[in-house]
Amino acid sequence: MNFENEIDLSKAVLQKIIFPDQINVNVFVKRLDLIHPYINGNKWFKLKYNLQYAKENNYKTILTFGGAFSNHIHATSAAGKIFGFETIGIIRGEEHLPLNPTLSFASKNGMKFFYVSRSDYRKKDSDEYKNNLKKKFGHVLIIPEGGSNLLAIKGASEIPNLIENDFDYLVTACGTAGTLSGLIVGLQNRKQLLGISVLKGAAFLNNNVKNFTYEFSKSSFSNWKIIFDYHFGGYAKINYDLISFIKQIEKLNDIILDPVYTGKMLFGVYDLAKKNYFEKNKNIICLHTGGIQGIDGMKQKMLLMQNLLYNI
Ligand SMILES: *Cc1c(COP(=O)(O)O)cnc(C)c1O
Repeated sequence: MNFENEIDLSKAVLQKIIFPDQINVNVFVKRLDLIHPYINGNKWFKLKYNLQYAKENNYKTILTFGGAFSNHIHATSAAGKIFGFETIGIIRGEEHLPLNPTLSFASKNGMKFFYVSRSDYRKKDSDEYKNNLKKKFGHVLIIPEGGSNLLAIKGASEIPNLIENDFDYLVTACGTAGTLSGLIVGLQNRKQLLGISVLKGAAFLNNNVKNFTYEFSKSSFSNWKIIFDYHFGGYAKINYDLISFIKQIEKLNDIILDPVYTGKMLFGVYDLAKKNYFEKNKNIICLHTGGIQGIDGMKQKMLLMQNLLYNI
């Protein structure tokens, strides 16, 4: 099967963004969220060469890792269903029933879950842990958390080729910084790259980028920077300012951002522009890396908390 046939890259339009207040740069969003209903955003690019590798090496099963709201788990389960692989998800934390929307979707796609404690989950990249997984599950292709491996970097390195307009900055939200690393090796010292970290205290992301880019291309790059000021308290943490910004952007542009990744990224770009971080009239392209599926889970979690607080 040709994996690319399922994906419609022509849907990834470049959309000029209108902000609540005027700023002195032009900001565009590259709509990678629109290329497929389930396997979209950066997760498609990170998966595609992994899927090809799985097929070429006769893997019938793909095993990967994620939290209970993971976009990568969601996309991998859909890819498994569509392209004919069994999928196994090693999920951080305890099982909560009923399944949240992310895991319920993944389960319908046939993904089998194994829940592991947070301390075990931290060991997931060690050889010992992976060898145990292979003993338990046999010939399975193990893809790391968030999909970030060198095949993912290769896929993400192709994203800049899709951008037909000239630009000065390319921006993405960073979880593992695998996507940012791919963009850096794809652009080969052209343009400036910015990553907005969605994690708190994530200085290790700088090392991730250095390691990924060096391993991939055996050279180092300096045209990139990760900004650590827009995590809003940590991964999947939100506040009123963030949600109100996301709602304003939605109204002005008819574009949905998620509060975990792309909302924080665009908030960061807007705030940086207001603080004159960019030179006047620069063209800034922000990737819409997908993640819309996570919104339902976030809503469900908030409703549960509301019930807990007020309806006991
Ligand atoms: C996974 C994800 C990211 C982070 O990608 P990394 O390569 O791990 O940095 C960004 N945005 C969305 C919507 C994601 O799902």
